[in-house]
Amino acid sequence: MSRPQSRASRKVKFMKEAERMYEQLEDWYDKHPEASFGEIEVEARKRRRELMGKTIEQLVNGRDTGVQVEAPNCEQCGEAMKFEGYCPWGIHGLEGDSRLERAYYVCPHCEGQTLFPPGSETEVAR
Ligand SMILES: [Zn+2]
Repeated sequence: MSRPQSRASRKVKFMKEAERMYEQLEDWYDKHPEASFGEIEVEARKRRRELMGKTIEQLVNGRDTGVQVEAPNCEQCGEAMKFEGYCPWGIHGLEGDSRLERAYYVCPHCEGQTLFPPGSETEVAR
């Protein structure tokens, strides 16, 4: 899914999504050759929302998921925390639905000490 990745590879993924959307529209129009311009627009609009959700997801994920070069310290005991994984969360946006990811850390010594360092995806969610 996301993980840090280059701008070029994010773009490749976006281009694939855009291509897939266009192919779906071609297939749909093949099956509905009599469709009016308005009907084509309705079809395009449905797919636009899906595409925009994925576009924004791509734009945000992989850029900064909150992973830090140095692990943050535990608030309770001061020891370095351990990178545990990525936590997915969904945003129902104006232009589409996106699934973003946050890196999170846990303290190996203290029970229940979890930290989600801020990344760009928390900025956009505001
Ligand atoms: Zn601790």
